[in-house]
Amino acid sequence: MPSVADRTQHFTESVIREMTRLIALHHPDDGINLAQGFPDFPAPAEIKEAAIAAIRDDVNQYSVTWGAPALRAAVADKVARTTGLVVDPDREVTVTCGATEAMIATLLATVNPGDEVVIFQPFYENYWPDTVLAGASPRFVTLHEPDWRIDPDELTAAFGARTRAVVINTPNNPTGKVFSRDELELIGGLCERWNALAITDEIYEHLVYEGQHVSLATLPGMRERTVMISGIGKSYSVTGWRVGYAVAPPPLTDAIRKIHDFLTVGAPAPLQAAAVAALGQPNSYYRAYLSDYRQRRDYLVASLRDAGFGCQPPAGAYYIMADISRFDFADDVALTHYLVRERGLAVVPGTSFYPPPDRSDSQRPGSQRVRFSFPKRMETLRRAAERLADLPGRPAAR
Ligand code: GLN
Repeated sequence: MPSVADRTQHFTESVIREMTRLIALHHPDDGINLAQGFPDFPAPAEIKEAAIAAIRDDVNQYSVTWGAPALRAAVADKVARTTGLVVDPDREVTVTCGATEAMIATLLATVNPGDEVVIFQPFYENYWPDTVLAGASPRFVTLHEPDWRIDPDELTAAFGARTRAVVINTPNNPTGKVFSRDELELIGGLCERWNALAITDEIYEHLVYEGQHVSLATLPGMRERTVMISGIGKSYSVTGWRVGYAVAPPPLTDAIRKIHDFLTVGAPAPLQAAAVAALGQPNSYYRAYLSDYRQRRDYLVASLRDAGFGCQPPAGAYYIMADISRFDFADDVALTHYLVRERGLAVVPGTSFYPPPDRSDSQRPGSQRVRFSFPKRMETLRRAAERLADLPGRPAAR
């Protein structure tokens, strides 16, 4: 057998996607997937119509590699509207296959082998393999429960001469944390001190229940050293369309475009046309979107507490990290495998949001947590809540 590349040995497959496969395998007809974060309700009709119209109008060939001009203009408008930043669509915007590609293209474009990338843990699982694929080493900084606080001393100690970049996902997956302006100022100050780049994943920018979304690029001095990443998947319920973007100053954008070109050539052309319609939604769209998600969040938090989980309402995004220590399961993996097999409900083990094990005991970070995602119809959430009733080991009296 020909051997495989060493770089594939340094990280594991995505547990989020694995859970999606397992629920389809064990419960093809009635499984409920609260693991992978994608909606089970339709996208706005107007946006779907825009995609259909684009195909009908034969927008079927490659668009400009770094993004259709109309979409780059729409991204620049949107960034100006939401942050006040002036962005040049011709020199500072790259359209990618999802925010996922924007992140890996950015890391490949900016980080050298031997560099360090600061990543907050628990982390969205892509950041670590992305960093490893770029030949760099992750430096993990813990977000401390219950409110996922940053310890300034720990953060300061993680930066140094080898730090090339820090990845900030706010609103945060999986914790729901919305980074405060003070925290972002601290991060920005460290970036300036160590001449590091900030890479912000702002894909949940429109899902803030408490506090306010602050783009790090808007802080003094940060525009020049920030790559701002987002996309249309989460905000317009089209995660399978794979349209994202990176906004960065021209020298960084030039490098990101080069990598992007050879990774994927470009994002799907008709869906880029539809993304223009998505980004043009009026304010009323975002108000309704947020209020629907708030209802889902409140319902699931209450249901999880009723079922014996410990959890706080997340301040943003659409995930809940729930405490499972009241149940009689060895760890997060045991509980998730029981749920997916016996109850037809997929969720994600908490350990998948932490670095790989150097110990496999119940003290491992995340081993008493599972992640629920709630971009689902209320009906789906109600059925999920029913499946959580009377879990083994649940104490009779709470
Ligand atoms: N961001 C989503 C999640 O965390 C989906 C991840 C993916 O599979 N691309 O579940």
